[in-house]
Amino acid sequence: MTINFKKSGGLVPVIIQNTHTLQVLMLGYMNEEALEKTKAEGRVTFFSRSQNRLWTKGETSGNYLIVNEIREDCDNDTLLIKALPQGPTCHTGATTCFSEETPKGFIYELEKVIEQRIEAKTEGSYTSRLFNSGVNKVAQKVGEEAVELVIEAKDNNIDLFKNEAADLLYHFLILLKTKALKLEDIEGVLKGRHK
Ligand code: AMP
Ligand code: ZN
Ligand code: ZN
Ligand code: ZN
Repeated sequence: MTINFKKSGGLVPVIIQNTHTLQVLMLGYMNEEALEKTKAEGRVTFFSRSQNRLWTKGETSGNYLIVNEIREDCDNDTLLIKALPQGPTCHTGATTCFSEETPKGFIYELEKVIEQRIEAKTEGSYTSRLFNSGVNKVAQKVGEEAVELVIEAKDNNIDLFKNEAADLLYHFLILLKTKALKLEDIEGVLKGRHK
């Protein structure tokens, strides 16, 4: 580890990101001692600028940040820590200190859009129309897209293959909605098998 504390007067900014959800949870500062303690204990300890002391996040709330990975940025003056929070990270009780923080990358954003289209019964929305045609129709569509993907897999046009893969993923998300399931639920099954 070559993080340079001298460059910024002994304190470096530390971005905390949720290992699983990829959400940015909070930003804090560390001095050398805080980083050493964090590495030694596997829980995030910051240097609190307002209290002028080491502050282990969660020391009173119990909402510790369990460290998975510590990374430096390109010029060694900022840290990114991937961690698993043992409760809400913000002192307000919110999951993250950035309340509008998007859950988990684009595919989850797409899932949210699909949910909104369905709930709002948006006029002219293919998503809404397909959903309302019922589970059998949606399932059939998933089957068709899967077959199209298989056909493209046998061919050599990578762009067509990518497009069919996208079609399948999109229709798969709608099929999950017909069962009131979330992508997260399926992820949970996969994670459960992963051990
Ligand atoms: P905790 O470290 O979670 O035990 O909380 C101890 C105190 O630190 C709280 O009462 C807050 O004043 C402060 N605090 C906790 N979490 C945050 C946060 N994410 N950002 C700023 N201050 C916080
Ligand atoms: Zn930098
Ligand atoms: Zn906060
Ligand atoms: Zn297709």
